[in-house]
Amino acid sequence: MKTKTPLKQLKLAVPAQETPITSFLTASGTFHDGDLLLNQKGLRLISEEKESRPSDGKELEFDFTLDDLETVKVIGKGSGGVVQLVRHKWVGRLFALKVIQMNIQEDIRKQIVQELKINQASQCPHVVVCYHSFYHNGVISLVLEYMDRGSLADVIKQVKTILEPYLAVVCKQVLQGLVYLHNERHVIHRDIKPSNLLVNHKGEVKITDFGVSAMLGSSMGQRDTFVGTYNYMSPERISGSTYDYSSDIWSLGMVVLECAIGRFPYIQSEDQQNWPSFYELLAAIVESPPPSAPPDQFSPEFCSFVSSCIQKDPRDRLTSLELLGHPFIKKFEDKDLDLGILVGSLEPPVNFPR
Ligand code: ATP
Ligand code: MG
Repeated sequence: MKTKTPLKQLKLAVPAQETPITSFLTASGTFHDGDLLLNQKGLRLISEEKESRPSDGKELEFDFTLDDLETVKVIGKGSGGVVQLVRHKWVGRLFALKVIQMNIQEDIRKQIVQELKINQASQCPHVVVCYHSFYHNGVISLVLEYMDRGSLADVIKQVKTILEPYLAVVCKQVLQGLVYLHNERHVIHRDIKPSNLLVNHKGEVKITDFGVSAMLGSSMGQRDTFVGTYNYMSPERISGSTYDYSSDIWSLGMVVLECAIGRFPYIQSEDQQNWPSFYELLAAIVESPPPSAPPDQFSPEFCSFVSSCIQKDPRDRLTSLELLGHPFIKKFEDKDLDLGILVGSLEPPVNFPR
């Protein structure tokens, strides 16, 4: 007769953890283990080191297609198209996807693709990174760095005015972006305005839509047809004369003044009924004396900064590099002001669906 061998007593133990756990589920339900990513779409190999690199102005070093992105929400609409908040299905990272619809000829399309390539190579922490661009059936899709506090237009809608110390912090960052565009890339932005200056929770301010207005213009068949607002255009530009980098400086001055006084400088109130027509605006910009900061309400440094930008003769404006050294910027430089605290106290432009 066989004797029953006693069941071996099983011992369950948690293995000693010598290396840190690298496996986790990302927000999109992707299982992430070291270099391996697995979700309902299959398996993928992505170098973790490259994927987790912060958005420091360098290109993402892994390839992805539009199919890898899922829409979270529409975050904005402009005259050229729609901007959506999207999530990368594999790595869970958020991006802004700007979709521009246009009917364009083949040669212009090639030119646009060329411009977008230049745009993608941006290496400045104050210019929004364009990670990828796709062209398909007359639709251009740009995968952009997501700026989670929206634009300066969103900020001033809530706070109405921005105090001088914070404005100096904003200006310094925009000027650093402009120095990069003007002095290193040798390009004119052409569309500096509150909605093209984006902010994130860290208090970083970055210029976006660089090259996009030129691109939209070229798509209309004429190289410099403008799509968007004329409000921030310099006198030489709005009247159709030649213009250069200093045209962006006029626009910056207008933006800064608007943020300080709480209204577009050429109008008396934000009341839509008083908004000038294009021809009234053209006449005001070209013929009237340039707007300035009221000296009884603002510091001499601020008034001087604004008038160093808003000069009707482009030769009288300071350059972006000169403005970086302006006493208004210098005055608040060592005060260590955190713009992140200001924007953090505001309603975020996008509420995430739960
Ligand atoms: P226009 O098309 O007339 O120039 P616009 O600049 O407002 O106007 P878009 O560039 O299409 O139009 O942007 C629409 C809105 O989407 C912006 O105002 C901004 O709030 C938001 N947005 C754009 N890009 C981003 C981004 N990278 N991150 C977060 N929000 C963005
Ligand atoms: Mg824009």
